[in-house]
Amino acid sequence: SKIEAGKLELESLDFHLNALLDNVAAIHALGAQKKGIELICSADPDVPTRLRGDPARLRQVLNNLAGNAIKFTQRGEVAIRVSTISAGAGQARLRFSVRDSGIGIPEERLGLLFHKFSQVDSSTTRKFGGTGLGLAISKQLCELMGGEIGVTSQFGVGSEFSFTVCLGLPDPSSAPPE
Ligand code: ADP
Repeated sequence: SKIEAGKLELESLDFHLNALLDNVAAIHALGAQKKGIELICSADPDVPTRLRGDPARLRQVLNNLAGNAIKFTQRGEVAIRVSTISAGAGQARLRFSVRDSGIGIPEERLGLLFHKFSQVDSSTTRKFGGTGLGLAISKQLCELMGGEIGVTSQFGVGSEFSFTVCLGLPDPSSAPPE
């Protein structure tokens, strides 16, 4: 509701991407382990580590996608990956993807997923719970962060949710000693 009222202001903080990814992986490690699913989390070597933006909102989107991926996967793996689309002039555009080998989503439902209260079918709520709000909020947060979110999926095989965001690159000379 804060987003809709135009009241959500993004923070602009320096943060370390690796720390953020470690945190996301730690949050989901137990859930994945309990289901016997492998959880992989990696950033391509060229992805800048020191970034400026709103780490809490970025984490919120990643946690939503990773949580869903684990929830809708019974076996196999969930892989979180970060890659660089472009970097330079104090800004980077990064792509985050969360791929799973879960139940997948029928093609005709894909377009609806990012709408509020949308779930693939009513049996989803019965079996898995949830509100159908997470993806709608994630979509709005990605747009606020200058990016977009999308999904590809094969029913019965798995899904890949990915989003882009635009983040600042702090001045290297301001780096604290490692
Ligand atoms: P919630 O998980 O609370 O229901 P979301 O907005 O996060 O709400 O997800 C909406 C719906 O999209 C889910 O109920 C489910 O039907 C579908 N969905 C989301 N992620 C996945 C996934 N990784 N695999 C299969 N279905 C998914």
